[in-house]
Amino acid sequence: MKITENTQNKTDIASYDYSELKTYMDALGQPGYRTQQLYQWMHQKLAAEFDEMSNLPKALREQLSRQCRLSGISPVRVQVSELDGTAKYLFKLHDGNLIESVLMHYRHGSSVCVSSQAGCRMGCAFCASTLDGCVRSLSPSEMLGQVYNIQKLSGCRVSHVVVMGSGEPLDNYDNLLRFLRMLSDENGLNISMRNITVSTCGIVPKILSLADEKLPITLAVSLHAPNDEIRKTLMPVARKYPLAELLEACRTYLKKTNRRITFEYSLVKGVNDAPSCARELSGLLKGMNCHVNLIPVNPIKERNFRQSGQREVLEFKNMLEKYGINATIRREMGRDIQGACGQLRKSCMDNE
Ligand code: SAH
Repeated sequence: MKITENTQNKTDIASYDYSELKTYMDALGQPGYRTQQLYQWMHQKLAAEFDEMSNLPKALREQLSRQCRLSGISPVRVQVSELDGTAKYLFKLHDGNLIESVLMHYRHGSSVCVSSQAGCRMGCAFCASTLDGCVRSLSPSEMLGQVYNIQKLSGCRVSHVVVMGSGEPLDNYDNLLRFLRMLSDENGLNISMRNITVSTCGIVPKILSLADEKLPITLAVSLHAPNDEIRKTLMPVARKYPLAELLEACRTYLKKTNRRITFEYSLVKGVNDAPSCARELSGLLKGMNCHVNLIPVNPIKERNFRQSGQREVLEFKNMLEKYGINATIRREMGRDIQGACGQLRKSCMDNE
């Protein structure tokens, strides 16, 4: 049996943003400065227990321990790639669900790839996260906990965060926004929104809502096809939001935020990697302030999609550039540790 939400019936205090925490502390009759102390213990010093919070009175620490849950996630397994040091973390949530996150090392710093849901309900054909559907969305503290645990376990200062793990972040919109604000809070890890990327399969109304927030994050949109016909075979979301609507929403997003959009395009042999696809894609994106990230598809054993050859990938990139579209080929990381979306969680659940 899967038990959902709040098994211990305790307040998820680490999901409170600063002003909510202040309200909570006010109700406990605590003076204002305690909010900052408690917030910093949870989100900057990354305390694992209330008892570590040495400048809080013992009675308050005990009261908080009785009423609140501090960390909703605990590490189960870590796999480190021998090829590039990429580390994949499997975490257990307080209700027993499993999620995964990845730590990647780049020249510009260390980046954590965060999951936003346990599973996913978007159904993309090539993606392992979605094979068993979505169990539930993650709370802000469960998303933050991935970054906090990895920073503590690895000893690396996390400088960048990408919400590109399992799940559709815009299907968990309110918690995502809170996560972004708390991650960049000066009383927390203070990670600049400019160093945060959120990836979506293209939920149009939510892209428009996000545009109104005017956050300096980078929005990445999973395109994976230059027309609706091909896109529908790979991504069920394309049936609900056709490309024309999606790109219109992206243009609105660009206008409102002035932030360049990244389009993700996973290349699948014989499906979307023909030169004609590159030409069609260029036409779609012409004149937009954007960047295309080409990802040779990571084959999963449950589906028989194959990766495009190196030559096709390079040709696709050159063709885009010829038409004036910025493009890069994403360096593959952690291939030896089931680096792709949802693979580790899936194999772990299957073996249980
Ligand atoms: N739901 C969001 C974010 C999660 S996936 C989204 O769809 O964007 C992050 C990116 O990895 C997406 O572009 C997704 O389509 C891609 N992806 C998932 N599985 C993949 C695989 N096996 N090979 C290549 N890319 C994959």
